[in-house]
Amino acid sequence: TRDVLPKVINLYEGIKNGDRHSLAKAITLVESTRRDHKFQSEQLLSTILNKAAVSTRSRSHRSTFRIGLSGPPGVGKSTFLETFGMYILSQGHRVAVLAVDPSSSRSGGSILGDKTRMPQLSNQENAYVRPSPSRGTLGTYLAMNNLSSLLDNIIDLLSPCMVARNTNEAIILCEAAGYDVCLVETVGVGQSETMVAEMVDMFVLMVPPAGGDEIQGLKKGIVEISDLVIINKSDGAFQGAAIQAMTEYTSALKYLQPNTPVWKPRVIRVSAKSNVGIKETWDIIQEYCNVMRESGQFEKRRGEQRKLWMWTQIKNELMDRLKSDTAIRTMVEELEEKVFQGEMASGAAADYVVDRFTNKYRQ
Ligand code: GDP
Repeated sequence: TRDVLPKVINLYEGIKNGDRHSLAKAITLVESTRRDHKFQSEQLLSTILNKAAVSTRSRSHRSTFRIGLSGPPGVGKSTFLETFGMYILSQGHRVAVLAVDPSSSRSGGSILGDKTRMPQLSNQENAYVRPSPSRGTLGTYLAMNNLSSLLDNIIDLLSPCMVARNTNEAIILCEAAGYDVCLVETVGVGQSETMVAEMVDMFVLMVPPAGGDEIQGLKKGIVEISDLVIINKSDGAFQGAAIQAMTEYTSALKYLQPNTPVWKPRVIRVSAKSNVGIKETWDIIQEYCNVMRESGQFEKRRGEQRKLWMWTQIKNELMDRLKSDTAIRTMVEELEEKVFQGEMASGAAADYVVDRFTNKYRQ
C-alpha cells in the first residue's frame, strides 16, 4: 500500500465534512485525464471505498440510490428535477444532480445551454447541482489562469465519451459527501443513455405527451432499458394526448423483456410545471427500490455494473496507452494507409498493432 498524498487526504476530509468546494474540486479531478490527476483520483476513490467498507461493518453506512433520467431536449427534465428534487429533500434526503451532456464531449458546446438550471434546488443546503462539465471544468481553469491545466482540459473536452466516462466516479464522490439520492440526467441522444443506465439503480425515461408515431420514432432500445416511463406535461391542453400516450406506452412495454424478473416497468403521467404526480413518482421509485433490495437484485445489479465499469476502464486505459505510444503511432499511420488502400486486411493490421504493443511489455 502506497502512502496517500496529503492533498488527497485534505480533499477526502473536505468531502466528508460537506464542503461543496472540495466536492467540486474532486469531481473536476476525476474528470481530468492528466496522469498525476488520475493517480490522485485513484487514491481518493480507494480511500472512500476503504472507509465505506469499514463503516458498512460498523453498520453506520447509509444506503444510497442512483436514478438515471433521460429524455429528448425540451421534454421538461430540468423543470422536473427542480420540482422532484425539492420533494425528495422534503422527505429528508440529500440530493445530488449530475448531468451527462453528450454534446460537450466534442464541440465544447452544450445542449443543456447556459441557463442557470434548477435555481431553487441549487440554493438548498441539502442539494448539490453539478453544472454541466464543459462549462464547469473549463471555467475553473480559466479562472485559475493556468495555461497547462487549461490545455489539458481542452484535450479532455475533445476526447469523445470523456463526460460520461467519469460520471461513475462523480456519483461515488457525491455519495461520500452524504448525498444519498443521486440523479443523473442525460439528453436522449447518442449512446449516453445506455451508458447512464449502466451506472444507476433505476433508469427513468421522460417522454412528451404524444403517442403513436412518436413511440415509433423513439429508439426501442431506450424504452427497453427503462424501469419507469414518465409522460410529462400532462396538463392543460396536453392532457388528452398524455392519457393517450399512457395507454400506448403501457401496451408497448407489455411486449418488451423487462430488465429484471422482479419488476415490471411502469408508466406515469406527471406535470412537472404544476407539481402533479411528483409524490406518486417518488412512491413508485421507492417501491422499485424495496422490491430490488429485498430480492437481492439491487446488490447484484451494482456488482455487475462495477464489473462492467472495470472492463470499460481497462479498454479506455489500454487505448490511452496505445495512442500515446510514439513508436506505435508512427507504425499505425503506415498501417492505416495500407488498410485504406486495401493492401492489408483490417484484422491483420489490428493483430499486428496489438502484438507489437503487448510485446513491449514482455520480458
Ligand atoms: P429539458 O430540456 O428536458 O430540461 O426541458 P425544460 O425543463 O427546460 O423544459 C422545456 C420547456 O417545457 C420549458 O418551457 C418548460 O417550462 C416546459 N415544461 C416543462 N415541464 C412542463 C409541464 O409539466 N407542463 C408544461 N405545460 N410545460 C412544461
